[in-house]
Amino acid sequence: ALALGAVSYLWATPGVAPGFWDMFVLAFVERLFRTTYRKDDFVLGKKLGEGAFGVVYRVSLAKKPSSKKEGDLVLKKATEYGAVEIWMNERVRRACANSCADFLYGFLESSSKKGAEYWLIWRFEGEATLSDLMLSKDFPYNVEAMILGEVQDLPKGLERENRIIQTIMRQLLFALDGLHSTGIVHRDIKPQNIIFSEGSRTFKIIDLGAAADLRVGINYIPKEFLLDPRYTAPEQYIMSTQTPSAPSAPVAAALSPVLWQMNLPDRFDIYSTGLIFLQMAFPALRSDSNLIQFNRQLKRCQNDVVAWRKTVEPRASPDLRRGFEMLDLDEGIGWELLTSMVRYKARQRTSAKAALAHPYFDREGLLVLSFMQ
Ligand code: ADP
Ligand code: MG
Repeated sequence: ALALGAVSYLWATPGVAPGFWDMFVLAFVERLFRTTYRKDDFVLGKKLGEGAFGVVYRVSLAKKPSSKKEGDLVLKKATEYGAVEIWMNERVRRACANSCADFLYGFLESSSKKGAEYWLIWRFEGEATLSDLMLSKDFPYNVEAMILGEVQDLPKGLERENRIIQTIMRQLLFALDGLHSTGIVHRDIKPQNIIFSEGSRTFKIIDLGAAADLRVGINYIPKEFLLDPRYTAPEQYIMSTQTPSAPSAPVAAALSPVLWQMNLPDRFDIYSTGLIFLQMAFPALRSDSNLIQFNRQLKRCQNDVVAWRKTVEPRASPDLRRGFEMLDLDEGIGWELLTSMVRYKARQRTSAKAALAHPYFDREGLLVLSFMQ
C-alpha cells in the first residue's frame, strides 16, 4: 500500500507528472534496444581526473560498430557512490538530458582485482571545463569564441565581457533548473564540474556522484559526505538536520514535496553558482587561495556580500573595481542578481527558475544575436 501510495504521489507531483507513465514504457522499450557495454569493450586512454571515489579516463571502443560512430567516450570507475551516480545519470537522461553530459551506460564490474567497481560511460563532451577556461588569461573571450564560433573583431570591454558572462550564467542556470525541476540537488557545483560541450556549444553539468534525489530519497544525507569547502553554502546540510535521516524510499517519496518546500534544498546549488558568478566577474577571485580568502572575509562580514563590498571597495585593486563596475552596468542589475544568489539564509536565495527570469538576462538574447550579425 505504501509503495502504491508513493507511486500515486509521484504521479501527482508537479514536475514528475508529465510523462511519468510514459517513462515506464520508454524504459522497457529502451531495455530492449539500448546498447549495453562490458569491460572488454573499452580501450583506456588518458586519465582525466582522480577523486576520492573514482578515476576518470578518456576511452574509445575496442571495435566500433560500423553502423554507428560512437566517437570518444569517458569512463569513470567509481567505488562507494557509483550506484548512486548511475541512478542519477539514468534519471537525468530521461528527465532533463540537456542539463548534463550525455550518459550512455553504467554497470557493475566485479571481475576487477580491487573488488567491485561501478563503471559509468558518457560521451566525451569536450576538452575544457569552466575551470580550465576561467584560468585562461583570455577569459571570457575564449568562451565567446567557443559559443559563437568565429567572432568579429569587436572592441573588447566591460559591456562585451558582461554579455559573455551573462550567456554562461544563463546556460548554467538553465541546466540547474532542469536538475532541480527533476528533484535532484547536485551539491558539488563548481567550475571543475561544468564541461563545455563542443557538440551543442553549451555548458553542461557533470559529476553527479554527490547528488541527491529528494523525490525518492536516494542518497538523502550521506553521513561521511565530503563537501568541497570552497563552494559550499553555509548551511552544509541540504536538508535541516531536524528531519529524520534516510526514510525508506516510499515514505520519502510521499514526504518529499513537503520536505522540499520546508528546506528548499536546491538553494544549496544556487549559492555555489553565485560564487562562480563572482569568480567570473572578479579575475582576482579565480584562484583557489583567493576564493578561500574571500570566503573568510565574507564570514567576517556576517556572510553579507553587501557588507563585504563596503569593506573592500574603498581600497579595492583596479581589478576588483572593474568587477564591481561590470556588475553595476544597467543600474546594477548584475550585482542585484549576485546578491540574490549568495545569501546566508537558503530561504532568501533565489531559485534557478526565478534567476532565469531576472532582468539581468532580459537583453542578453538580443545582444548575443546582434553579436553574430
Ligand atoms: P571526479 O571529480 O569525481 O574525479 P568528474 O565526473 O568530475 O569526476 O570527472 C573528472 C574530470 O573528467 C572532469 O573534471 C572533466 O575534466 C573530465 N570529464 C568528465 N566527464 C566528461 C565528459 N562527459 N566529457 C569530457 N570530459 C569529462
Ligand atoms: Mg568532479
